[in-house]
Amino acid sequence: MSIRQDILRCIESKELPQGKGFKKVSSYFGENTFGIPAMKKHISKKTFEAFLGWMNSGKQISLEQANEIAESMKDWAMGKGATYYTHWFQPMTGLTAEKHDSFISFNGPGKVIEQFSGSKLIKGEPDASSFPSGGIRTTFEARGYTAWDPSSPAFIIESKLGKTLCIPTIFVSYHGYALDKKLPLLKSDEALSQAAVKFLKLFGKKNVKKVFSTCGPEQEYFLIDKNYYKMRQDLLLTGRTLVGVSSPKDQQLEDQYFGSIKERVANFMYELGEEAYKLGIPVMTRHNEVAPHQYEFAPIFEESNIATDHNALLMELMKKVALRHNMVCLLHEKPFAGINGSGKHLNWSMSDDKCDNLLNPGSTPESNLQFLAILVSILRAVYKYSDLLRASVAHAGNEHRLGANEAPPAIISVFLGDELNQVLDIIEKGKKTEISRQDIMNLGISRLPVVNRDMTDRNRTSPFAFTGNKFEFRALGSSQNIATPITVINTIVADSLDFVRTKIEQAAKSKDFNTAVLSIVADLIRDTKNIRFEGNNYSEEWKKEAQKRGLPNEPSTAEALKALIKNENIALFERYKIFSKEELRSRYKIWLELYIKILDIEAKTLNEMVNSSIVPNAFDYQGLLAGNLRSIVKLKDGAGLKLADGALEDLKAHLSDVTEKIYYIRKNSQAMMKFLEEVSGIDEEEKAKRFFTELKPLMEHIRRHSDMLEVVISDEHWDLPKYREMLFVK
Ligand code: ADP
Ligand code: MG
Repeated sequence: MSIRQDILRCIESKELPQGKGFKKVSSYFGENTFGIPAMKKHISKKTFEAFLGWMNSGKQISLEQANEIAESMKDWAMGKGATYYTHWFQPMTGLTAEKHDSFISFNGPGKVIEQFSGSKLIKGEPDASSFPSGGIRTTFEARGYTAWDPSSPAFIIESKLGKTLCIPTIFVSYHGYALDKKLPLLKSDEALSQAAVKFLKLFGKKNVKKVFSTCGPEQEYFLIDKNYYKMRQDLLLTGRTLVGVSSPKDQQLEDQYFGSIKERVANFMYELGEEAYKLGIPVMTRHNEVAPHQYEFAPIFEESNIATDHNALLMELMKKVALRHNMVCLLHEKPFAGINGSGKHLNWSMSDDKCDNLLNPGSTPESNLQFLAILVSILRAVYKYSDLLRASVAHAGNEHRLGANEAPPAIISVFLGDELNQVLDIIEKGKKTEISRQDIMNLGISRLPVVNRDMTDRNRTSPFAFTGNKFEFRALGSSQNIATPITVINTIVADSLDFVRTKIEQAAKSKDFNTAVLSIVADLIRDTKNIRFEGNNYSEEWKKEAQKRGLPNEPSTAEALKALIKNENIALFERYKIFSKEELRSRYKIWLELYIKILDIEAKTLNEMVNSSIVPNAFDYQGLLAGNLRSIVKLKDGAGLKLADGALEDLKAHLSDVTEKIYYIRKNSQAMMKFLEEVSGIDEEEKAKRFFTELKPLMEHIRRHSDMLEVVISDEHWDLPKYREMLFVK
């Protein structure tokens, strides 16, 4: 009996408790967060107002007020059963980090009380020496500080036996360098706000004090049974299958996409929804994705800062809740070869403090003009800094998608849709136009409502698409923390808004305002034309066309990351005080190292699988074949067994074939291990390059041969769970 058959017998869905009462979401949404409603209830009016003032106009609160908030936060959390608290942050690993402290302190011999002060709320000092800093902080200066981010509500994380109060924080070094992903994001929102407020002023919006980016990340993921997961070293250690043949049926019938959700998965989704709602995460949409066992969650959009925390939390929750259902949530970009990988679509826009979406085309000619000026600013941003956008999504997992015949390509371009393109074409040609929204689509059936047609048609292959009132950056990996891509978008848009505003101001000296705006818009439409592409981004023609247009196409992570340390880009980030040169260098170094480490782990895992499972399985099967052959020859020669012409040759050929595959697998694994040894001392840039050009092909080679064995070896002799089982057993 093979291990795999044993697993099949263990697979069962979790029984949900009978009659579990379903509560209205509105009755418990955000109950585990210390947000504005909870604060209002628990702190004095004066402190509450001071806090709101801090959030809206940046006027810091006093230490006494911080103490009061800390005390109330503790009481609130303890009232809900929390016994520990932690500063919760997002270090450069892209994951979330926490170090728990108890509320207790001594108040007499052998006696403790629960306490929490303003200073503990505001600042923490985890021993941070093991977090990557990329050389910014040496180990002997281990000090890193966490500082409260009051704009993101504290929350309570529950486990079966206890609860912890989590306080969102940023993480900085002794010298104030950002050691996390959140601080640069907050700074970029500030920079965007300043640029956009000035921009709006020019268009007559004098009352806007603040603009913030908004974001709704659509999160894709796979779910597979835990038993299979445990039996696959590769999934366990690297998050993706390093070998494995795709099953004859995978996604070709398109019967999974938006299909009915199987009960086992639906149960997971319900429980996840409940957990998310308690934390105030506005999960909105859920559906089956294209690949078997692939799904998606999308939230209602929020301010980027909150959306970033919520997405990081959601990913943690997904992993946790899946386990409760005996499943594992795979967030890797490419867990299975041959079928779709998982990405994250980052829907991005800007709102002013009146909650007006700045990417809403608007209904009056004036608002249209403002919209067009913002639109061309974004076109310029994406065109000028497409290498930074590419770098913001560069990591080992995503390398399997970008530039590897998978959505979307490594070439960054913008899709606007027919209607907008027409408008831009007319303006470019110098014919002034009023942009009306002739977009009422009467479906002609009286019982159906009149539908407001979305301004855009859809192009699913574009990496940066305008979708009606927001842009959708589709190149993010599913496992990725969204802070860095947002930071880049915010910064490059701030830069472009400033650029375009200055141009308009200059032009308006000699023309009336509207004519000045239209002339600058027309200039920019011309200048940025190369970044616009409406066709199929996966096609070979586009690659050629993009090359002609001089658009970067960088499939390699290590090469793409170099954009972070390009002088021009360093200057941009320094100008807006988002990153210093040192901070950019450190990020480059950390992410390059991470890439190397991930590939190193993958290669070593593959080697282990070859030696502990694939080759031994193949030896067993080879032995069986050899034994058979020997017996048959004996029977033929000794007992006159009749054989069809070629039958003996066929058996021999099969044995030779299996033997040959074993030989190549072993030979290449040995070469791979030798390669790793050889490059162990070399410089990291060089190493990353060689990993891309030499190690990855070697691993592919081993995989190909292993996959050829998998399809000929009997089920009984193959221990690794197969794609058809992982992806189709429900
Ligand atoms: P689409 O069908 O165009 O993808 P949806 O309405 O389904 O649009 O929204 C997709 C995601 O985009 C959701 O997470 C949604 O919250 C988000 N989104 C919608 N409007 C905005 C906005 N103004 N800013 C940021 N994200 C937005
Ligand atoms: Mg979408």
